[in-house]
Amino acid sequence: MKVLIIGGDAAGMSAASRAKRNNPDLDVTVLEKTMDVSYSACGMPYNIADPDRVIDDLVVRQADVFRDKQGIHLLTGHCVESIDPLRRTVAGISIQGKAFQFSYDKLLIATGGSPIVPNLDGFDLPGVMALKSLDDGRKIKAFIKANNVKKVIIIGMGYIALEMCEALRARSIDVDMVKPGPVFLPWMDTELSDVVRQEVESNQVKLHPGYKIQKIDVEGGRLKVICSDLTLEADMVLVAVGIKPNSELAAEAGLDLGIKDAIAVDRKLKTSDESIYAAGDCADAYHVVTGKKTWIPLALRANRAGWAAADNICGNAVELPGVAGTAVFKVFDLEVARTGLTLDAAKKSGFEPAKVVIKTRSRAHAHPGASVIHVQMVGDQKTGRLLGVQMVGKEGVAHRINAPAVALHNQMTVEAYGQADLAYAPPFGPTWDPTLTAANQLLKRI
Ligand SMILES: Cc1cc2nc3c(=O)[nH]c(=O)nc-3n(C[C@H](O)[C@H](O)[C@H](O)COP(=O)(O)OP(=O)(O)OC[C@H]3O[C@@H](n4cnc5c(N)ncnc54)[C@H](O)[C@@H]3O)c2cc1C
Repeated sequence: MKVLIIGGDAAGMSAASRAKRNNPDLDVTVLEKTMDVSYSACGMPYNIADPDRVIDDLVVRQADVFRDKQGIHLLTGHCVESIDPLRRTVAGISIQGKAFQFSYDKLLIATGGSPIVPNLDGFDLPGVMALKSLDDGRKIKAFIKANNVKKVIIIGMGYIALEMCEALRARSIDVDMVKPGPVFLPWMDTELSDVVRQEVESNQVKLHPGYKIQKIDVEGGRLKVICSDLTLEADMVLVAVGIKPNSELAAEAGLDLGIKDAIAVDRKLKTSDESIYAAGDCADAYHVVTGKKTWIPLALRANRAGWAAADNICGNAVELPGVAGTAVFKVFDLEVARTGLTLDAAKKSGFEPAKVVIKTRSRAHAHPGASVIHVQMVGDQKTGRLLGVQMVGKEGVAHRINAPAVALHNQMTVEAYGQADLAYAPPFGPTWDPTLTAANQLLKRI
């Protein structure tokens, strides 16, 4: 059987490796348009923070290892331009300009996402960059070095924007952040997002939410981000306003698209075509809380979907339960984490949500070195179900989010979660874990 995979990063290479492990005789070909495969995009902000680290450190497995040790026919510099589902072929062009065509029995689309770049004047100027691929990371590092960058404007305030503002400040680069939306972190409870905002501002980052960007200009070698009532100047502009799924190939081939134009897949990662699967940032998924389709582009689910697609292709039927939207990021000294639904999302999904926000400690009473942990918990008044948790603090937040995430996968009620036997010792938290205290408080409201 010929298995063809488009895209050679998290989902694509996980699928290729898994397929070969399942069946070493399988003919597996991967077509990747760039020269990089299997790297940690998530590590790029931390690598950019350190001028002495080479960005290629982030490559998890070299292309030759896939070829020589795993027997995967991996072709870099091969950009797929079309899929013909009737003939079961894909066609494209190589980096050397040579047209190619491959046939398949089963196809996996693992084309990921692309950064959204506003269709405004000046977003194509040199020094206006986005961070998605390893090559973007290379270019950003090279630009900072070559131009001795002292000031950067970041457009956007999502998690990549915030990780990058920390990375740039670590290199003593001044940072202004600007975005059209008026609210700093709109998905986060105000009490918690105020803590993040203070942390960012106390690291001399200037935040400008609520400014509609009109264009970018260049004057005297400096870039100018021109907004309605504000003009900001810098040596470099980083555009970090989100990503969109790379689903054009699928759409042109007549496959169904779903939420946010991601490729619609079932729980087996199969698209609307029997022979075509899709996995990772290009595809949608089920949300374990709502049971409805969602699109949350993150690394674990891309790797997992790659595995599951490979298993299904190899005839080992697997159905994925879905995602809870569990995510974590670091910004300066803060850990910020979330899982499940926000209050607003819960309302929109038909729940009758109530929330609680509590402040507790990261270590036991009187244990030295404690800091504050803020927890917001959302539950459903109709069913008592736990719906979502957000947390912010200097320690003990990142991995603590995993307990409520597992509870969401199991549709636990707030009451049942409150009875969970969670670990305790003074250096790691109070006797009542912060999430248990939140559950106990929330129980009074639902
Ligand atoms: C800076 C940054 C930080 C991040 N941090 C985190 C984090 O902390 N935690 C987390 O969970 N996630 C994080 N992510 C997101 C995570 O990296 C992605 O969810 C994950 O890489 C998705 O994997 P994927 O294989 O679906 O897509 P991608 O990694 O985008 O891979 C898709 C591949 O397909 C190739 N391709 C696209 N079109 C074609 C074509 N037509 N022909 C051939 N090849 C094609 C692309 O070149 C690319 O190599 C981060 C992302 C970035 C950019």
